[in-house]
Amino acid sequence: MGALGWRYNGIEDRCRLSGLYKEPSVTEGFEMAGRLNAKTAVITGSSRGIGKGIAQVFAAEGARVLIVGRDPRAGNAVVEEIRQAGGESDFCRANVSRWSDAEALTQKAVDRFGRLDILVSNAGIFPSIRIEVMTEADWDEVQAVNLKGTFFAVKASFHRMKAQHYGRIVLTSSITGPVTGFPGWAHYGATKAGMLGFLRTAALEFAPHGVTINAVLPGNIRTEALDDLGTDYVRRMEQSIPVGKLGEPADVGYAALFLASDEARFITGQSLIVDGGQVLPESRDALQ
Ligand code: NAP
Repeated sequence: MGALGWRYNGIEDRCRLSGLYKEPSVTEGFEMAGRLNAKTAVITGSSRGIGKGIAQVFAAEGARVLIVGRDPRAGNAVVEEIRQAGGESDFCRANVSRWSDAEALTQKAVDRFGRLDILVSNAGIFPSIRIEVMTEADWDEVQAVNLKGTFFAVKASFHRMKAQHYGRIVLTSSITGPVTGFPGWAHYGATKAGMLGFLRTAALEFAPHGVTINAVLPGNIRTEALDDLGTDYVRRMEQSIPVGKLGEPADVGYAALFLASDEARFITGQSLIVDGGQVLPESRDALQ
């Protein structure tokens, strides 16, 4: 069974617990789950990692998902996985730090699927460098993708959502910046905190038009990019997370799913921490 089938089993398990379970096929499962049936979702930075996890969760709930990234090979592989599991998906090559690409990706969603209901602005980079050696170019690169890229994707999507008087926008921020600090990530933390400042005013401007905007703040999530930080980093992080392990991309996907759903219609301008309790301990003594 493919990755989507596996995630679908999570839904089966919940149905089984609530007495609603029946034995469906994977495709029937999409119809039965269906919290995002007939919705079109654009997810930036979904060719791997957290964005891919969000795309898989959304597709399993019936959304048509546009995968966005710079690498067509990786992006098309995600599209193929989703299709194999019975979902609907396509790829759009885009660099989120370019306004013309942001416009093009929303256009592609409308051309391909007829509308744009959900945007997850997730593309982000986190190169580590300390302030004393950080250059202007280092600073600008991270701002351009994480913060300007979010502004562009949100602005281009709002234009479409306003016309249909419906939209759900979810930003992937981080605990780093809004809540915590970590040596080497001052520029990164500034972008992730900046995203929350941006979304509070965006929420006010968008509310009269039926569009909500909220953020998920992941802690340490097991992705290729995080694995690149080394096994020592991963082990130390596991020791600082109360639930005792790193999160999975689907954990962020399920949080984003709630904020993207119709059930979250009365929630806007808010943020949801998805970190296994990592920000809670006052000191090492608080970790058992
Ligand atoms: P990742 O595995 O490196 O994936 C990043 C994604 O963003 C890739 O699909 C990449 O695709 C895309 N991307 C990067 N630059 C782009 C650009 N200029 N234009 C378009 N797409 C671009 O990283 P991740 O760990 O999944 O992180 C995803 C998001 O979660 C980021 O915003 C990150 O800050 C946030 N986050 C991650 C963690 C964590 O523990 N992993 C924790 C907190 C927050 P291409 O290379 O094909 O462009």
